[in-house]
Amino acid sequence: MASKSQGGTHPAAHTNAARSEMPKLRRPAREVFSEMYDRKGLDADWLGGKVFSLVYPTGRSDIDDVLIEANNAYLFENALNPLRFPSVSRMQREVVNMVSSLVNAPDGSGAGFTAGGTESILMSVLVSRERAKVERGIERGNIVLPISAHPAFAKAAFYLGLEVRTTSLTTEFTADVGAVRDAVDKSTTLVVGSAYGYPHGVVDPIEELSTLALSKSIPFHSDTCIGSFVLPFLERLGHDVPPFDFRLPGVTQMSCDIHKYGYSTKGASTIVYRDSAWLRHQVFDYDAWPSGRYRTSSLAGARAASPIAAAWAVMTYLGEAGYTELMGELMEITQAIRSGIEAIEGMEILGTPPGPLLSFTSTTNDIFAIGDVMDERGWHLNRVDGPPGLHMMISPLHGAHVAAFLDDLAGAVAVHGASRDGGVSYN
Ligand SMILES: *Cc1c(COP(=O)(O)O)cnc(C)c1O
Repeated sequence: MASKSQGGTHPAAHTNAARSEMPKLRRPAREVFSEMYDRKGLDADWLGGKVFSLVYPTGRSDIDDVLIEANNAYLFENALNPLRFPSVSRMQREVVNMVSSLVNAPDGSGAGFTAGGTESILMSVLVSRERAKVERGIERGNIVLPISAHPAFAKAAFYLGLEVRTTSLTTEFTADVGAVRDAVDKSTTLVVGSAYGYPHGVVDPIEELSTLALSKSIPFHSDTCIGSFVLPFLERLGHDVPPFDFRLPGVTQMSCDIHKYGYSTKGASTIVYRDSAWLRHQVFDYDAWPSGRYRTSSLAGARAASPIAAAWAVMTYLGEAGYTELMGELMEITQAIRSGIEAIEGMEILGTPPGPLLSFTSTTNDIFAIGDVMDERGWHLNRVDGPPGLHMMISPLHGAHVAAFLDDLAGAVAVHGASRDGGVSYN
C-alpha cells in the first residue's frame, strides 16, 4: 500500500518494553562513537540532497562552520538566567529585534525567543487566551484555523483548553475567508492564517483575514514560521509578494522560525507581537518556593544557549545581503525543479506557491505509488492529501541534485505510469 506517513510522527516518549540498561562498565569514547556513527548510517541522507523536509541545508561549508563554532562556543551555558550570561541575553535581544524588523513590526512591538515554531505558537495562543479573559471576560474560548494551519495550533489548544474550529480551503488551497467569517463568534480568541502554509506552500489571504479579525477586535496570527525568512527576501528580489506582515493593521502576532529558512540549527524561533504590553501574558513569575524568584517567559526552564548563539551568528554573518543572495539561488533551483515536474505528463503543482515549498500531484498516475518508488530510490518526499500529492521543501543544497531527482521522478512515473489506468481527479 502507498505510504502516507509524515515526518514528525516519531514519539519522544517511549514505553519500557524493549529495555535497555546503562552499561555496567565504562566504555572507551571511541567505542561509543563508533557505535553511534554505525547507527547514524541508517538515518536519512540529507547531506546527499535526498531529504526535502526537516533539515534545511545550504550546502555551504562557510555557513556550516559559523553554525558549528557558535554552537560549540555556547554548548554548556544556560539561557534560564539572563543575569549570569549577559552575552546570551544580549544576543537573544538582538535576534528578536532583527526578526521583528524583518517582518516590519511597528514601534512599541515586543518579541520573545523560543525553541521552535511550536513554542512560538503555544505562546501566541496563550497570550490571546489571557487577553480574551482579561479584556473580554471569555472563560472558554475557541481558535479558528483554516485546515492547512500547522498542527501546533491544535496542540496549543489541547494544552490550553481551547476549542478548535477548522475551516475549509478554496480550490487554490488557501483559506476560505467566508468559512472563517462563519466560524468566528464572540468567544473566538484568535484567528489564524499562514504565510505560507506547510502543506502546499501557498499564502492565505492575510489581508482579508486580518481585516475580518480586526473588525471584530480579535487578534490575528500570521504564521510565517517558514515565510518570515522567505517572503521578505523575495520582495527584495522584486517578486510580487502578497501582504503578510505587520504592515497590515489587523496582524497582531507572527511566528518566525530561524531554524528553517533562517538556516540556523534547531531550537530557534521568534514570536512577535504588535504591542509589547501583551508579552506580560507569556511571563510566569513565582516566588512561593524556598529558592527565590523564578521568572520565565516561555515554556522551558533550563534552556539551551547554543541555539541563540547560532541564530545570532548566522544572521549576523549572512546579513540581508547574504539571505537575499541565497534566496535568489534557491529560487533558480526551485524553478528548475518546478519546470522539470511540470514537463512530466500529468504532473501538476498544487496551487500557486511563491517560494521554495511545493506539492505536486498527477492527473494520470497514482502519485503515492510514484512516491513509493522514489522512497525505494532513497528520496524522502512527504505526502499531502486532499488531493494526494508529494511535498518538497527545497533548500540550496538541492541545487546539485536537481537532474538526478528529475531523472528518478520521470523513471518512477515510467514504472508506474503505463500500468495504471486513471489517476486522481480533484477538480
Ligand atoms: C514548521 C512549522 C511550524 C512549527 O514549527 P516547529 O519549529 O516545527 O515547531 C508552524 N507553522 C508552520 C507553517 C511551519 O512550517
